[in-house]
Amino acid sequence: MGCINVKECACPKKTCPNNGKCCACVIKHKETDSLPFCLFLDNGGDKSLANYYKILKKRFEP
Ligand code: SF4
Repeated sequence: MGCINVKECACPKKTCPNNGKCCACVIKHKETDSLPFCLFLDNGGDKSLANYYKILKKRFEP
């Protein structure tokens, strides 16, 4: 069942039990050291904070 505060989840993983439940999604990703899809769209299949850091480095460091 989806969260009443969410109409449509941006995450393409529709089989995930957290899809459409932002509160559960945030907890899951906090516990797994990663980001929800909607906060890390260009993740290349890896939503880890380590990968996010790599991408931010490329973006902000010359
Ligand atoms: S971002 Fe992660 S927890 Fe949230 S719906 Fe997608 S796969 Fe599931």
